[in-house]
Parts: sequence; C-alpha cells; structure tokens
Amino acid sequence: MNNLKVTRPEDPVDVSIVVPIYNELENVPILLGEITAVMQAGPYSWELICVDDGSTDGTAEALAQAANSQPEVKLVRLRRNFGQTAAMQAGIQHASGNVVVTMDGDLQNDPRDIPAMLEKIDQGADLVLGWRRQRQDRLFSRKIPSRIANWLISRTTGVAVHDLGCTLKAIRADLARNLELYGEMHRFIPVLAHRLGARTVEMETHHRPRQFGTTKYGIGRTTRVVLDLLTVQFLLKYFDSPMKLFGKMGLIVGALSWLCFSAAGIMKVLGGVDLTGNPLLILSVLGTILSVQFFGLGFLGEVNARIYFAANGKQNYQVRELVNFGPGSSGPRRRAA
Ligand code: UDP
Ligand code: MG
Repeated sequence: MNNLKVTRPEDPVDVSIVVPIYNELENVPILLGEITAVMQAGPYSWELICVDDGSTDGTAEALAQAANSQPEVKLVRLRRNFGQTAAMQAGIQHASGNVVVTMDGDLQNDPRDIPAMLEKIDQGADLVLGWRRQRQDRLFSRKIPSRIANWLISRTTGVAVHDLGCTLKAIRADLARNLELYGEMHRFIPVLAHRLGARTVEMETHHRPRQFGTTKYGIGRTTRVVLDLLTVQFLLKYFDSPMKLFGKMGLIVGALSWLCFSAAGIMKVLGGVDLTGNPLLILSVLGTILSVQFFGLGFLGEVNARIYFAANGKQNYQVRELVNFGPGSSGPRRRAA
C-alpha cells in the first residue's frame, strides 16, 4: 500500500470521490451514509465531492447541510444544470486526491465496490472500469441501446470494453485531469484514457435498480452518443495532425476531378464533343474547388492543433514516469505509476 497512499501537503487526501447530482433529494442521505461507512472502514484518507448540477428540489441545500456537518463532504454547486459530463469535470477539477473515484448519485452504483477498485489502482492500474454485468435497468430503452453502443464504440475505436456507460470508475488524478470532458464525453472515458496511454482494467461491479427519483435520460441520448463517437474518433486519430484526414480527402477528390477533366479532354480531342454544360467538366471544376477547400481545412486544423498545444502548455505525449530527474522535476505529480 505505498503506491496509492502518499499523502503530501499539496494533496490533502488519498481518494476523492466525485458524484454529479441532479435532483436526487431522497438518495442523498443514503448515498452519503453508504460512502462514509465504506471509506471509514478503509485505510485511505478521503473526500466526497458532491457536484450539485443545478438541482431544483432542495438537493443542494441538503448537500450544503451535510458538508457543514461532515468535513469529508464537499459541495461544488453549479449555477444551473450543465449536464452530467460537465458536473463530473467540475468535480474532477476540484478534487485534491491522488485518485478520483466517479460514481452516480442515484444509488445504482454500490460504494462497497470502491475498495476493490482502489486495490487495483494500488497494483498499478491507471484506470479501473466498472462493469455492470447484472445491469438493473429497462431492457429496451436501456440495456439494448447500451449493448449496441458498446459494440459500436469498441469496434470503431478499437478499445474493447464491456460497459462504457458504467459511471463507477477509479482513475489516477493526473490522468483524470487530462481527460477534458465535454458534451456527453464521460461515457468515452475509457477511449479518451486509452488515447493518453492509460493502463486500464475492468472489474465487475454491483448494480442496483433505481429506488428513488427518476432517470434523467431517455432513448434520445442515443443520437448524442453517436455524434460524440464521431468526435472521439476524430480526436483519437487526427487531433494531432488533422491534415492526415483532410489532406487525404483533398487528394482523393482532387484525383477524381483530374480523372473527370481528362475524360472530358479526351472526349473533346478525340470525339470532337461540344463541352458546353458537360457534366464531367462541371464535376472536375467542383472537385477541384472541394479539394482546395479540404486542404485549406487541413492547414487550418494543423494551425489549431499547434495553438492548442502551445497556448495550453500541453504536450502531445504523456509521461508515465521520470527516473533520476530529481525531486523538483516537472511532469506528473505522482512519483511513479
Ligand atoms: N446527473 C447530473 N446532471 C444531469 C443528469 C444527471 O448530474 O444533467 C446525475 C444524476 O443525478 C445521477 C447521474 O448523473 O447522479 C446519472 O444519472 P441517471 O441516473 O439519470 O442516468 P442513468 O443511470 O439512468 O443512465
Ligand atoms: Mg442511474
């Protein structure tokens, strides 16, 4: 237990539990009780960061009260409902632990799974993913779309994971801070983490039916997930050098328009065909314009990528460990992973 338990002045706790919460009034006291019981029984210092995502049912007040009476409980209260992903990002940014554990605030995840997850981090994993093998949700509106989404995402991204939608996860904090969660991206954490070179393990976790409150999502989420999949796919493959994508499209379209142009030329020279309004000629002009635009997009993308990395002080690599650089060396906050 020396890997995870490295409390230093700048990290006051070992484990930060981050929970996005939106209108879960009845669940709050039970959730706090369950987490407290589990964490107090374990060896780690901890904090519980509740992110109130603009609740309107008194959840925020209940959380504030809990935070006043229990030092481990902290509340980040957002000004309005920003969505689960944004709430999770807010929680991660306010976390001070070496490890971030994320979970839902509706009691569907079981906090009793947390210690086993932390053990896996302690053994060297960067990211531990919950797998709701016995998922307790509706079949048609939930389990089937989720199966299809998992299959699709695993196939397209090449990151083979059973259950992307399980919010119960444990992540090393430096990795968590690098994830950059936008849109509905929290369900792509395994893919984003893979991009950062994370060592990922899966763990079967318990899942319980929702007892109180209602789910915040319907089947409409499917389209948003598919659109996010496109974004993630782009991030994964082309974020560093978008010219690889747009340049390729520019080349293909350019070559096709050149073919059209040649065909039109042959028709004119050998067949004596009048080229006024000739579709091949029109296609070749259109294709040339498109191809130039694709290259332009590619160059703009390249410039954007450079601005992104330079302006944010980001690197296009991730350091796992620095050996013999001295204690003041920059790099990841953790000494060794
Ligand atoms: N949630 C949130 N903001 C939202 C929607 C949901 O913080 O806009 C929280 C919600 O309170 C819960 C978690 O995200 O703690 C998961 O939501 P939900 O249980 O509705 O999703 P499901 O489990 O049905 O996918
Ligand atoms: Mg739920």
